[in-house]
Amino acid sequence: MKIHEYQAKQILSQYGVQIPRGEVADEPSKAREIAEKIGSKVVLKAQVHAGGRGKGGGIKLVSSPQEAEKIAEGMIGMTLITHQTGPEGKLVKRILVEEALDIDQELYIGIVIDRAREAPVVMASSEGGVEIEKVAAETPELIFKEYVDPATGFIAFQARKLAFKLGLEGETLKQAVKFILGLYKVFEATDASLAEINPLLITKQGNVLALDAKMNFDDNALRRHPDIMKMRDLDEEEPLEVEASKYDLNYIKLDGNVGCMVNGAGLAMATMDIIMHTGGMPANFLDVGGGVSEEAVKNAFKILVSDKDVKAALINIFGGIVRCDLVAKGIIQAAKEIGLKVPMVVRLEGTNVEQGKKILEESGLAFYPASSMKEAAEKVVPLAKP
Ligand code: GDP
Ligand code: MN
Repeated sequence: MKIHEYQAKQILSQYGVQIPRGEVADEPSKAREIAEKIGSKVVLKAQVHAGGRGKGGGIKLVSSPQEAEKIAEGMIGMTLITHQTGPEGKLVKRILVEEALDIDQELYIGIVIDRAREAPVVMASSEGGVEIEKVAAETPELIFKEYVDPATGFIAFQARKLAFKLGLEGETLKQAVKFILGLYKVFEATDASLAEINPLLITKQGNVLALDAKMNFDDNALRRHPDIMKMRDLDEEEPLEVEASKYDLNYIKLDGNVGCMVNGAGLAMATMDIIMHTGGMPANFLDVGGGVSEEAVKNAFKILVSDKDVKAALINIFGGIVRCDLVAKGIIQAAKEIGLKVPMVVRLEGTNVEQGKKILEESGLAFYPASSMKEAAEKVVPLAKP
C-alpha cells in the first residue's frame, strides 16, 4: 500500500526523523492560514501518489500567504501529469504547505528489501533530487549500499559509513547518522517495503531534513498497523483493483487487450505466457482463487467486462477443488445479467468438466469453447485484434 508524502512525513516525525514544518490543506483559505502560521516563504506541494511533481508543476514556491491562497486555488482540483502518473494524470485533492528552506545540497536515502539478498538494503547517494533510476542506470558507483543482517539489525556503524561516503562532516554528519538510523527504525517498525527520501536536504545552516518522503507498506503486514491502514486513499488506486479486493479477488491491470479470468496464480502465469506466445497481450490478471464460488465467478466476470481495454476474454479454469459445473453456472448467470460485451473463450478442465461444458452449450450464449490452453489462446488472440 502507498501513502501520501504528508502522511509519510507524519510517520517520520513520530519517530523523531526531522521534517520541515508544514500542514496539509484541502482548501485555498486553509493554505493561506498555514502559510501565515509558518510566517516565512512556503512551498506548496501537490499530494498525489506519484513522483516527478517538481517537473510536472506540482511544487510551487510562494512568498506570501496571499500568494499561497492564489496559487493553491489553481493547484487544488487540478489534474497533475508527471512521468509517473500516465497521460491521464492524477487529481490533486490536497496540498502540503511547508516552510521553504534554503537548499545547500540534495542527497538521496532509500531503503528497500533486496530480494536476491533476502535482506533490507539502505542506499545513499549524493545525487539526490533528480531521478535516482537514472543515477542507478548511468552511474551506479554513486549509489552506496549497506545490507542489513536481520539477526543484528541495522547498526550505527553502517549509518556512519554511509554518511561519510556522502562527504558530510561535523554537526551535519552527526545529524545525518541520526537521520539514517531513524529512517531505518521507521522502516522496520512499520513493516515498510520502501522508505525513500529524495531529496534528503542539507540546508545552508548544515541541518539535515526530509524534503520529500515516500513510503510503501507490505500489504500482508497491514493488519498490524491500523493507523497506517487508515491512511489508504482509494481514489489513488486503480478502481477495478479496489473493486476486486472487496471480493477477495486478485486483479492486476496490465497493458494489453485480452482479459484473463483464471483460478490460481500459477495458472494465471501460464495463461499470460501462452497468450503472449500466441502474439497477444493480456489486459489484466484476474485470479479468482482456488476454492472459488459461483458468486466469486460472477463478480470476477463483472470486473472483467468493465475493463474498457478488454477486447476479448479468456476464461481458463482448472477444476481441482472447484467444480466446473459451478463455474459454468456462475459464468452464465453473470453473462445473462451483464451481457456478453466481448467475445469470450472458455476453457474448463477438471472436476465435472463434462457437466460444465454441457451447461455452457445449453445456455444458448455465444461462448467460444476450447479444450486446451493452446486452442484457447489461438482463438482469443485473433478475436482481440482490432
Ligand atoms: P517530486 O518531484 O515529486 O519528487 O517532489 P520533491 O518533493 O522531491 O520536490 C522536487 C524539487 O522541488 C526538490 O528536489 C527541490 O529542488 C524543490 N523543492 C521542494 N521543496 C523545496 C523547498 O522547501 N525549498 C526549495 N527551494 N525547493 C524545494
Ligand atoms: Mn522527490
